[in-house]
Amino acid sequence: MTPVASILAEQQLDDHARWAGRIEAITADQVRRAIADESGRYTLDKLAALVSPAAEPLLEEMAQLAEQLTARRFGRTIQLYAPLYVSNACINSCRYCGFNRTHHGARTRLSIDQAIADADILATEGFRNILLVSGEDPNFVTIDYLCDLAARLRPRFSTITAEIYPLSQDQYTAIARAGIDGVTLYQESYDRPTYARWHPAGPKSDYDQRLDAPDRFASAAMRRIGLGVLLGLADWRIETLAMAEHASSLIKRFWQSQLSFSFPRIRPAPEVAEQYDHLVTDRQLVKMILALRLCFADAGLVLSTRESPAFRDAMARICVTSMSAGSRTNPGGYSGHADSTEQFAVCDARTPAQVAAMIRTAGREPVWKDWDAAFTAPATPTAADV
Ligand code: SF4
Repeated sequence: MTPVASILAEQQLDDHARWAGRIEAITADQVRRAIADESGRYTLDKLAALVSPAAEPLLEEMAQLAEQLTARRFGRTIQLYAPLYVSNACINSCRYCGFNRTHHGARTRLSIDQAIADADILATEGFRNILLVSGEDPNFVTIDYLCDLAARLRPRFSTITAEIYPLSQDQYTAIARAGIDGVTLYQESYDRPTYARWHPAGPKSDYDQRLDAPDRFASAAMRRIGLGVLLGLADWRIETLAMAEHASSLIKRFWQSQLSFSFPRIRPAPEVAEQYDHLVTDRQLVKMILALRLCFADAGLVLSTRESPAFRDAMARICVTSMSAGSRTNPGGYSGHADSTEQFAVCDARTPAQVAAMIRTAGREPVWKDWDAAFTAPATPTAADV
């Protein structure tokens, strides 16, 4: 059993019925004590209180505290980034995803030059923070491919992160040395039976291999560690607790890295006709985000274009620290491959300039370039380095 799996088992977070009962039984007094606790400090009991039904009448109070804490730790800024999809081929069969290997949609893989053409458009729009995204396509999206692409992107992008299939620690080290300074990897669900149901085949069906990946990339000195669960597959409250335990164990050991949480809610996707038993409402998602902020003062909180303009506008005023804008979820989507299959349909289709204007209206400064990364990034590596 991996160290993280042991922690989850110790807390019995694999027993959803038990935890659901505990959360339902939490009282208003327990929530008030959780809110009165040191802002930004994590304990499992505190987080359980903040996600409970008893916290419902206190959401406004939680929002005010979350806003104050975020302003103290991050200033009044929101980082902007854009995803760059490089391949929609995949050897997995996640039942919620448009890139599922059994689907019939067109597969598109971008050569390095084609990926750079997309990236150039993003750079022209102002982005200096780019997220490389790919299906699990290890025969095309190789370590050499990622290193070569990072080396070409580095002069124009101060921050390059990746949302790709799990790698070995040596492979993570190689891409870190090439200039990729962060990795986001969603566990999708921390509940083993749920995980097995939605990931029936391919390497991703190995729950533990995925669960262990953040340890591997954090050990490879990635400066940014991103976690998330796919919201809609299982009870969001217990998934939040499990993700928080995972985050807490990483922060204790890899305190030099910055941790962030993403909040991907299920979206419609090509050839997907699944029914989801645990769809998360706007109000529940707000509660999840606020609860995590009140337990993790320094965590980045990321909201993508999966969410509606109205929801993103509201959260920009409270505690979100990073937003994507103008996103395309198909390879080549920025430079005209309109026929390539997208992973999911975005909900906020505003242009980057429109999102930046919204952020200013919300009283925040849109940040296109992460200056800290620019100062601390490794020098562009030589061929011998990579
Ligand atoms: S979610 Fe990721 S791994 Fe699963 S089918 Fe889609 S692209 Fe592949």
